[in-house]
Amino acid sequence: MKAMSLLQFGRGHVDLVETETPAPGPAQVLVKVLCCGVCRTDLHVVDGELPDPRLPVVPGHEIVGRIEGIGRDVTGLAPGMRVGIPWLGGSCGVCAFCRTDRENLCPDGRYTGYQIDGGYAEYAVADASFCFPLPGGYDDVHAAPLLCAGLIGYRALRMAGDGRRVGIYGFGAAAHIIAQVARHQGRDVFAFVTPGDHQAIRFSTEVGVTWAGFSNEPPPHPLDCAIVFAPVGRLVPEALSRVVPGGVVVCAGIHMSDIPSFPYRLLWEERVLRSVANLTRRDAREFLAVAGDIPLTTHVQTYDLAEANRALSDLRSGRLSGAAVLVP
Ligand SMILES: [Zn+2]
Ligand SMILES: [Zn+2]
Repeated sequence: MKAMSLLQFGRGHVDLVETETPAPGPAQVLVKVLCCGVCRTDLHVVDGELPDPRLPVVPGHEIVGRIEGIGRDVTGLAPGMRVGIPWLGGSCGVCAFCRTDRENLCPDGRYTGYQIDGGYAEYAVADASFCFPLPGGYDDVHAAPLLCAGLIGYRALRMAGDGRRVGIYGFGAAAHIIAQVARHQGRDVFAFVTPGDHQAIRFSTEVGVTWAGFSNEPPPHPLDCAIVFAPVGRLVPEALSRVVPGGVVVCAGIHMSDIPSFPYRLLWEERVLRSVANLTRRDAREFLAVAGDIPLTTHVQTYDLAEANRALSDLRSGRLSGAAVLVP
């Protein structure tokens, strides 16, 4: 099969390789990759901003696949089914985190497109218990961004609490999905974009946010909570300065530039600053059910599998509105 593979740490691009089509192990499924979303985390993997990827590795953890083969121990899935394969690809199942519904923090967690070959390929194998049937109403390319942008965005929104006024810093793939969920929940959404990025203002307005402005501007009302999707540390004190006492600021990315020091008064009055790491299978089931109910409009830009580097560089330079999706 053809795959786009990261061959060396921090290489900054992937290379087209011909490789054996994998065979599913006893607890795995083999899927034909229908498409695979491109997530900012892939960029961090390819650019060497995350430590210790297994190398070589095929990136990609927003896989929409059709099951073509199943291992002998797999139950509940069958050839022909369409499934989604997200970032969390395995966990130990026995540690204190796994036993308390926090498998996202498992020290032996394994991640798709990082320690496990992912979806920048024609085929992929995955642990069957970490694959999820996808809701109807989404074609393959529009379903792909649900699997990380949507799912981890949903976890971030949950961690932000149920405040009515939600700020979102960085308006890309995750934000455009989660803004729709928050609006559907009857909340007001305030989008903050890079100063001068009028295209992002237009995009967030199309998606239906309550207000959109530049990240160095005050919103028209103080926020109850804020989610920082942009990997930019200086937005953290900025967001803290915009939330009410008791407000929550969630950092939703896996990598962020250093957070500058800030005065204690920004945290005082019980403001909460936290991160969100990975996802649990419960998040996946809950969010995919929500996505089946609402339904969400995902904005995608498709690329051939062989154009993975162009998709990555468009994401790197902020030239994308919505989500990039590779189609083998
Ligand atoms: Zn564990
Ligand atoms: Zn991701």
